[in-house]
Amino acid sequence: MVAMTAIAKNELKRGDVILQVKDLVKYFPVRTSFLQSLRGKEQLAVRAVDGVSFDVYKGEVLGVVGESGCGKTTLARTLLRLTDATSGSAILEGVDILSRNHAEMKELRKKLQVIFQDPYESMNPRMDVQTIISEPLRIQGIVNSVNAARDIVASVLADVEMLPPEEYMSRYPHELSGGQRQRVAVARALALDPDFIVADEPVSMLDVSIRGEVLNLMLTLSRSRDVTFVYITHDLATARHICDRIAVMYLGKMVELGTADEVIINPRHPYTRALIGAVFVPDPRHRGFADILRGEIPSPVNPPSGCRLHPRCPHAIDICRTTEPEFITYEGTHRAACHLAGQLKPRQA
Ligand code: SF4
Repeated sequence: MVAMTAIAKNELKRGDVILQVKDLVKYFPVRTSFLQSLRGKEQLAVRAVDGVSFDVYKGEVLGVVGESGCGKTTLARTLLRLTDATSGSAILEGVDILSRNHAEMKELRKKLQVIFQDPYESMNPRMDVQTIISEPLRIQGIVNSVNAARDIVASVLADVEMLPPEEYMSRYPHELSGGQRQRVAVARALALDPDFIVADEPVSMLDVSIRGEVLNLMLTLSRSRDVTFVYITHDLATARHICDRIAVMYLGKMVELGTADEVIINPRHPYTRALIGAVFVPDPRHRGFADILRGEIPSPVNPPSGCRLHPRCPHAIDICRTTEPEFITYEGTHRAACHLAGQLKPRQA
């Protein structure tokens, strides 16, 4: 085994690979009855993430997009070690997140932070804003009291445009609007000056009118503080708005990855084309993606053979039923897993 050396903060330049995910697998065993286990029935599992490999570059916003059940949230939770991977590796700045023990993970959390979907759920309603934001600083031993953290709290509140900070520090979560609560969640994630933030559907519970503000804030922070974001979302339109690159997942697999323009304007995979056709119909540049999928998403316990999309894909041919397509690079950074990805027309006239 090759020893890995942690990369010191600021050693990486913008655009360097900060996270390398390789063959990541997460299966959840399905509970079987005692009788079934006595009969020697095969242990079934939900294949939530099933062999996913990709790089993330320092300072970018990478969107991971897909319908519910595609594995994107499990991917996020596995990278954050909120659940253990079945196999694979995820090397963040030279350190494999997936093989760290509890004490080592505590150290890694200084670099790796999370923003959850529901800011209200993720905050203690009995803590004021100053205590909420300073909590990770105290856990990490960076400060030993709430008061000692006051300058850092004021600074990150200013970063998330909650001004003047003193006005918000003594408020409790119920005294804030949904958008302000999510800004506090972003401020809490920033308090440790992390390099990498995973944001799991961070605006899906907010009013449409304020989603853009919080997303723009993430984009601004990624530029001004060189923070790398992985933005987990079911919403292709918001991913298009803030992401440098977009990865599309379907049934536990990554099926397409490229710059936001490559994926949205010239999608290679029929699943991406179907998503775009459903979301961007009013935009004339996207008319013509007439890929309409048949039926429902199959069970991740027993996914289809070959290409997992084949029972639903309008372009499926014989090989699709038997042979899993490789995740191939077509041009630049644009990758897709489809036997016909090189032949599908950019747009149907
Ligand atoms: Fe459709 Fe075949 Fe491509 Fe899968 S490999 S997306 S079934 S054309």
